[in-house]
Amino acid sequence: QIDLQLRNVTKSYKKTQAVNNVNLTVNQGEFFTILGPSGSGKTTLLKLIAGFETVDDGSIKLKTQDIASKKPYERNIGMVFQNYALFPHMSVFDNIAYPLRRRRVNKKDVQTKVKRVLQVVQLEEFSKRFPNQLSGGQQQRVALARAIVFDPPLLLLDEPLSALDKNLRQQMQFEIKSIQKRLEITTISVTHDQEEALTMSDRICVMNEGGVEQVDTPENIYKQP
Ligand code: ADP
Ligand code: ADP
Repeated sequence: QIDLQLRNVTKSYKKTQAVNNVNLTVNQGEFFTILGPSGSGKTTLLKLIAGFETVDDGSIKLKTQDIASKKPYERNIGMVFQNYALFPHMSVFDNIAYPLRRRRVNKKDVQTKVKRVLQVVQLEEFSKRFPNQLSGGQQQRVALARAIVFDPPLLLLDEPLSALDKNLRQQMQFEIKSIQKRLEITTISVTHDQEEALTMSDRICVMNEGGVEQVDTPENIYKQP
């Protein structure tokens, strides 16, 4: 079942064709990675899906809705930013509660939902702490919790592991993947790290110079000469 469908998606910045006529489908529950060198258009494509940039041309369909002209908040997509973008003046609990409060979820449900997701990311003991009192891996888990707490149909990860050291990166690869599979949340991740793409993905989309070069399973992509 298709969750996200991009058709002829195109975006230019002045003279730069950042994303050039991209067609993609992402299936329900899939971990889909966009892999490519710096400048290949990965971040722009993610921003177009999230709504931080608008397409020059083409359509973006999420489930049954065309979202290409909607504001980011109206798209109801969860996103983990490269440097997490936690609110420094808010506790872990309040950071995670933020998307719920913004959606006017009642107090009791906020409590229930935040507690549940704190369990999922194994941070029950840390709800009163502030971001600067957490390790990098813990901050990442808060960012993940905040992105999934409102049960979005789609989760976007922008270079999710680039801020972590090597050991932690492998541990978080495992953790993110197991949470993603358990919740069956359709996920698109952007990275330039081949090993990360190979480990985490159901399918990989290789981008180059704004276009899609190849979409296939990690096995098929890596067995090529
Ligand atoms: P990647 O994420 O793969 O590194 P980007 O999507 O960031 O690639 O960039 C793709 C191309 O678009 C690059 O040539 C980049 O310099 C250009 N670009 C991205 N964002 C902007 C912008 N806001 N203004 C001008 N050019 C941009
Ligand atoms: P990433 O590390 O995710 O690929 P970059 O470091 O390339 O992102 O870009 C950081 C920010 O600068 C992004 O918001 C991107 O859109 C913007 N940007 C990238 N290239 C350019 C450019 N040539 N001119 C203006 N803004 C750019």
